[in-house]
Amino acid sequence: MSDTPNFTSENSAGTGTAETRPFQAEVRQVLDIVVHSLYKDREIFIRELVSNASDALEKLRHLQLADKDAAGTAAGDAAPLEIRVTTGEKAGTLTIADTGVGLTRAELVENIGTIAHSGTKAFLAALRENGGSNDNLIGQFGVGFFSVFMVAERVEIRTRSWRPDAEALLWTSDGSGAYTITPLDAAAAGSVGRGAAITIFLKPEQKEFAGKERVKNVLLRYSKYVPVPLLLDGEKLNTVAPLWLKNKSEVTADEYKEFYKFQCHAWDEPLDWLHFAADAPLAINALLFFPSSNFEKLGFGRTEAGVSLHCRKVLIDDAPRGLLPEWLRFLRGVVDSADLPLNISRETMQDSALVQKLNHILTKRVIKHLDELSRRSPETYAKFWQEFGHFIKEGIVTDATNREALAPLLRWDSSWKGDTKTESPASSSESPAASAESPESPKQTVSLSDYVSRMKPDQKDIYYLVGPDRDTIEHGPYLEAFRARGLEVLFFYEAADDFVANHLREFNEKKLTAADTADLDLGDAPAPAAGAGEPLPEKRLRSLCEWLKPEAKNVETIAAGTRLVDSPAVALNSDKYLSPTMRRYMQAIGRADAADAPAAGVKLEINPRHPLIHKLDTLRDTDPAFAKLLAAQVVDNALLAAGLLDNPRQMTARIYEILEAAADRKAQ
Ligand code: ADP
Repeated sequence: MSDTPNFTSENSAGTGTAETRPFQAEVRQVLDIVVHSLYKDREIFIRELVSNASDALEKLRHLQLADKDAAGTAAGDAAPLEIRVTTGEKAGTLTIADTGVGLTRAELVENIGTIAHSGTKAFLAALRENGGSNDNLIGQFGVGFFSVFMVAERVEIRTRSWRPDAEALLWTSDGSGAYTITPLDAAAAGSVGRGAAITIFLKPEQKEFAGKERVKNVLLRYSKYVPVPLLLDGEKLNTVAPLWLKNKSEVTADEYKEFYKFQCHAWDEPLDWLHFAADAPLAINALLFFPSSNFEKLGFGRTEAGVSLHCRKVLIDDAPRGLLPEWLRFLRGVVDSADLPLNISRETMQDSALVQKLNHILTKRVIKHLDELSRRSPETYAKFWQEFGHFIKEGIVTDATNREALAPLLRWDSSWKGDTKTESPASSSESPAASAESPESPKQTVSLSDYVSRMKPDQKDIYYLVGPDRDTIEHGPYLEAFRARGLEVLFFYEAADDFVANHLREFNEKKLTAADTADLDLGDAPAPAAGAGEPLPEKRLRSLCEWLKPEAKNVETIAAGTRLVDSPAVALNSDKYLSPTMRRYMQAIGRADAADAPAAGVKLEINPRHPLIHKLDTLRDTDPAFAKLLAAQVVDNALLAAGLLDNPRQMTARIYEILEAAADRKAQ
């Protein structure tokens, strides 16, 4: 720097020579913006100064640890390590004093007169690019010490370094381009102990920052957890220990719950929490809570992210974007990383490699924690799933990076329970409490791993069926083929499940396959049940299918098959991309074009052993008119069960005709 010291004689407080120096050109640039800024949240200057004070105290602590005599000979060395904030309401001043390392003359020039630190440098870089809204940049960067000139007419720093024989100095500036350093005389120096006291003479319109309540508010918001005692007009403010920095073993469950309610402004009890510390690859202390109720589910709109980001106990952002993936927005808590710069830009936060790394580490830990929870406490996990399962499904659909890791967390109901034909060992994750649930809330406790562990040796796919509830699926025509073969089927009750299956596609290299898909190779047909009757002869079958065709306009192909046991016919979906659920969804979102023509790809499979099929075959010779009625009804029933019958009105009229004919026959 080419700044030359400019010695002047005007000096009142000190004995030495007052030295006036211009600020470095870059500093003048920052000051110019800061002084003329209309930035609304000027209060952040308090955060910046308290953080500097806290850093200075931390540095001193380190020195003392390394060398007991360090910082031991200067005046005021016995002073307790603390930050004292004092309001001068009448005079319109605010003083922030610490007993930290203090500054020598050279340090005042080097550290406060020039810009070397990353935060302010980044600010300048952004300024060059941005040009326009400087006010915003101040909020994003904080701009360290210089932010004080948003509110100050003049600033005085009284300081004495921790070094032995360090002189007491007075630094003053009005932020307009130069500063003056004056050594204090013996009398004045006596009142200056080790550390730095920054006195702000507030601009007339910024006098609010000389008010105790106003300052208290700001301190509690940003600096409640600084690691040294923080006193405002003698009152200690940071009485609440930063729980997240404590060792897990030192914190009781009640303390966690209290913290959750107060710090996270929660109304419910936490269902569970995850408290961990890591050193590599990043220094992280995190305390994350899983709430017990999902307000989104109750219809309160989208939940806002609720995990705040701190850097060494100082709040950086209440809800930084990008700290966690969207689907984890239900989490509450605190993340603290010493590796973050305090004045990280809020706007660039999301793109910051550090925040992305944090996101990656945190997400992995949360998924692992949930997986462990499901083993350790299946009941708690069941509650979690009931409330927040949706978010996990959202993660599967929207977050390709974590999709695979999330799959083991999924839970569904399945045909396995109560299905005596599947001889599987009792699931170890099943709890007695969970199985006593009411029938209205199905027990969605089957994981994909459970399913895979029960798969038949030659079974290749994981099967699922979509339906509104257990009863409907169990009484529908699709399950019987699987039941007869002892194959487990997962029950999907929510539209989201279909999307989940479509995005996940497979688990442990086993494909997720809809059980109503045509052309499934289900392996050997089961031995026909006793009394199931003989199948229609091959030739009759073929001609019956031909004859049925005109009655089944909404069906693409008709064939006899081996999957059915109790039903005469079933409509199968061979359109791999548009399941009936998807079709309904497309209709709901107005994409009727895609949902049109339900017949596309529908295959009707008839059961050659079923008595009704036998009778239909006879009737088409003896009473063709009535046979046609029956045939049309069999087809519609199959489509109805498949969710593919769009217009059931014709069906009602037909049923009356059939009833009439049946009544006639009985009456004869
Ligand atoms: P930053 O904190 O980002 O480095 P600042 O402008 O806030 O930027 O501060 C510049 C430097 O001035 C600090 O790095 C520190 O060396 C010094 N400093 C500021 N406040 C104090 C203080 N209270 N005690 C000792 N040194 C301080």
